[in-house]
This record gives sequence, structure tokens and C-alpha cells, in this order.
Amino acid sequence: MPEKSNDPHKTSWIPVPQNSDFPIQNIPFGVFLTRDDVITIGTRIGDQAIDLGALHQLGYFKDIPLTDDIFLQDTLNDFISDGKKTWRLVRNRISEIFDSGNPELQGNKEHQKIVLFTMDEVEMQLPVQIGDYTDFYSSKEHATNVGKMFRDPENALLPNWLHIPVGYHGRSSTIIPSGTPIRRPMGQTLPKGSTSPVYGASKMVDFELEMAFITTDANIMGEPIPIEEAEDYIFGLVLFNDWSARDMQKWEYVPLGPFLAKNFASSISPWIVTLDALTPFRVPSPAQDPEPLPYLQQKGDKSYDIHLEVAITPDKGEPTTVTRSNFRHMYWTMAQQLTHHTVNGCKVNSGDMMGSGTISGATPDSYGSMLELAWQGTQPITLSNGELRKSINDLDTVTLKGFCEKDGLRIGFGEVSTKLLPALTTE
Ligand code: MN
Repeated sequence: MPEKSNDPHKTSWIPVPQNSDFPIQNIPFGVFLTRDDVITIGTRIGDQAIDLGALHQLGYFKDIPLTDDIFLQDTLNDFISDGKKTWRLVRNRISEIFDSGNPELQGNKEHQKIVLFTMDEVEMQLPVQIGDYTDFYSSKEHATNVGKMFRDPENALLPNWLHIPVGYHGRSSTIIPSGTPIRRPMGQTLPKGSTSPVYGASKMVDFELEMAFITTDANIMGEPIPIEEAEDYIFGLVLFNDWSARDMQKWEYVPLGPFLAKNFASSISPWIVTLDALTPFRVPSPAQDPEPLPYLQQKGDKSYDIHLEVAITPDKGEPTTVTRSNFRHMYWTMAQQLTHHTVNGCKVNSGDMMGSGTISGATPDSYGSMLELAWQGTQPITLSNGELRKSINDLDTVTLKGFCEKDGLRIGFGEVSTKLLPALTTE
């Protein structure tokens, strides 16, 4: 079904600045607090936040079967539960209301006053209540780099990696929206050359450049999702910084995998960009050799061309872009991840979040973490002010950005930006 809202020639009566991530073709979904302290579900065009709760109350969605309070909520979970058909009806209707040729709301200043906010009048919230969070490890380049550093350069990829989208169950309690500062974590590490661990602040706090997808209710317990249906259960994507304490990770991860090195904070961008909006940017994913088992075999263009970058901004300094990567480098696709996740009957719910894993490209300037960019501290990165970084310093701000661009159409994710504060030491 072609998406009317994707028409690249469509323009909005809301001004859209040059190079904005949010033209009328994007129509992402988020949750924000308004200047009147009301929490609502909304979307964004240009630099205007649009209150969907108010639009619905004013009757603009009367032809779509929606409950009265569907947008008057502090999370998107119920709306996401309504399913793909409803998401499409709502996106197409928003696209119609804000089309330059439509006088309905364009000519009604009273309604505009109720519905429109500038971005600096709203405070973005976490868009969904994340029930469960899983993080994959699906970039071959990243898994190879980490395998070389943490284990054995000769056998960097473990034997299961090319057959299974490897992942672990993370923790959703510490997933936070962009703008929320975090603390350097305390914990155990094993100093180099020592045989007993010490307690203290992590000395190697790192970002992980990831994206994450948000699901709808996908299956009943016991029933897997076939690969050809998997994308129907993916609502959309956000940028995802999976904060990591590398020194703690190295000590704790054997034999059960990531734990406290990962769950002190994970930051996401606040606008969920739908898979429908990303359709024009579909691209093939890397060839898979060996061929995956039949339940993981997927046809067509399986990935998306999403440019990604990370900048570090020191306290009172200018940002330095430290890496540029692309979502299309992912070896395992989202559909393969979701299908594999449910092959045993594991239930996936509306608002669950699945991280891609760190997205590293093939070249050293496209690696998705400081661990790889500075190669475990041996090749520090130089910032624009001349300072060196092997990992993230106190008071540094880390900002991830992402966007797609093709034939003059740019659809983006905005950013996820997080400041690292000093540890709350208890020593
Ligand atoms: Mn991760």
C-alpha cells in the first residue's frame, strides 16, 4: 500500500527550516509536557510540536476509529497497540491536515493556538513505557573488534555469531530520554596485572552508537513470529546510546554477559520515527554467509540507509564529531532479530525496545564506540580543542544524530544528547 504521507513533493503550511529532520513526510510520534503542564502525545513538523490530544478533541480525527483518550496519555503504548492500520490512518490524516493546500486548520487561528507549540515550549518525555528491553550485538565489525580486544584476535567472532542474532535481556528501569544527565557509575573492576578487584568509579565510561526499534503486541506466548510478518510488528525507531563502563564490563561479563556495566543508563531520542516514514530509504543489507537457517531467511531490501554520527562536547567547549557510521552496516536485520527473539515462543509486547547493538562500519573512522575508536586506549582521539579522549570525561556531553537523505528528502531522528556527571562517590 503506497503511503500518501511519503509523497516527496508534499509541503506543509508549517515552515520547515532547510536541513530539518522533520519535514511533513516524517510525522514521528512522541510524548511531551506543554507550557500548561499538560502531558500529551504529539508529533512534530519543522520546529513546531503538535498536540494530537487537542487535535483529536477538536474533531480532526473523527473519521478514524480511535478511543477519545488515545492521545491524552503519558505513553504511546495504547496507540501502538492499535496496530499498523491505525498508525497509517493517523499519519495520513496528519499529513492531510498540515498539507499546504488544506485550509482546515491553516485557516483557523483559534485552533492553532490550542494545538501548536514551539519546541522550546515543550519538554520531551520518554515516548513509551518500556516493559522489556533487549540489546542485540548485530554489527559484524563491532563484534569482531571487541572479540579481538577482549578475547582472541585470531578467533574474534565466536562460532555462534554468524548463525544467531546474539543478544541479551537488558533492563528498562534506567532508559532515559535525551537531555537527562547521568552519573559516572561506581562498581568493581580488576586493575591491570592485579588478581583481586577494587571498588570505585569507572575509569572507562563509553557510548555505544545504536538504534533501537519499538514493537507492538506481536504474538501470544508460545507462538513465534514468521520472518515475513516481523516488520508489521515494528512501530518505529529511535537513536540509542547504550552507555557502557568498559572496565566493569571486562571484569563482570564472563560467563553470563553484560550486567552493571550497562544498566546504569541508556539514552534514547524522544521522537519515534515510524518504519512507514523510512520506506523510501530501504537498502539491501550485507550478504550473509553462511546462509542463515530457513526461519531467519528474509527476502528483499532488508535494511535502511540511516546516516549516524556521534559528537563529544567537553564542558564549555565545542562539539567534535568523533565517528560517522550507517545503520545499513548491520549484519542481522530487525526482522531477523525479532523473529529470532520469538522463535522459542517468547512474548513481545507493545512498547518493548530492541537495541541494534553498536553500529560500527568497516573503517576506523566509522566505529561506534570509544573502545574501538581509541582501540582500548592505545590510540586516543583528539578533540577540536586539542584535548585527548580514550573514553568519556566528566562533564562531557555525548550527542548521537541520525538521518536519511535521498532525492532532496531528508527524514531524521533529531538527537539524543546526554551529559556525564561525576560519580557519587561513597568512599
Ligand atoms: Mn549495546
